[in-house]
Amino acid sequence: MQLFADYHIHSRYSDGRATIRQLAEAALAKGLEAITICDHGPNNIGAGVKSPGSFLEAKQEARKIAKDFPNLELKVGAEANVIGLNGEIDVPEEIYKKLDWLTVGLHPYIWPKDLRTGWSYVVGNQLHTITEGQRRKCIERNTKALVEAIRRHKVDVVAHPGLGVPVDIEEVAKACAETNTAFEINTGHRYQYVSDLVRVAKTGVKFVVNSDAHFTDTVGDLDYGLALLQQAKIPPEQVINGRH
Ligand SMILES: [Zn+2]
Ligand SMILES: [Zn+2]
Repeated sequence: MQLFADYHIHSRYSDGRATIRQLAEAALAKGLEAITICDHGPNNIGAGVKSPGSFLEAKQEARKIAKDFPNLELKVGAEANVIGLNGEIDVPEEIYKKLDWLTVGLHPYIWPKDLRTGWSYVVGNQLHTITEGQRRKCIERNTKALVEAIRRHKVDVVAHPGLGVPVDIEEVAKACAETNTAFEINTGHRYQYVSDLVRVAKTGVKFVVNSDAHFTDTVGDLDYGLALLQQAKIPPEQVINGRH
């Protein structure tokens, strides 16, 4: 299998270290055919974009330089944070509709939408080691929030399901399969197990392998994900950036 695209890359608009032009050059050097610049939503503490309007600036910048990269499909999207228990996200619909791509993910350190979310999600996820019962409740709450985000918004990819914030990955994968949302294998954070991917693949969900690069030198570093796909016997037809 060959992976021809990397749909999760951060630029200077959030906590990435490179400009969009530098990232595009790095992608071409790695032989990629398509990339998505996908910066963190504004509610990510210490890492988010200044405001949702930054995504439109990034898109404008990408449009300006696109002519210099005729062999690269250069897309701009957002990695939105789930900030409410009912699937609310921190990138408004009127903004993400103007972008090429929407990725949604759970992150532990976010500014929540309201106090209830703050208490039960942000604080709750820090307490999950205390008792098994509390942990189970957290997983239920996290899963529900993520699944509702997938159903409420037109989401392309769910970023790193289960990383840092525990979820029921099969429930998430089922919702992804029903809504044509890709389930990410994230090579920047090597936390996923082959056995989990085998279980998840049975839902019929489509996968995507992404680097989550924050620097030019990790753009297109997808080999680790490719190895996981092969071990889990997932065919290229089930991978949105894969082909024979
Ligand atoms: Zn993320
Ligand atoms: Zn990311």
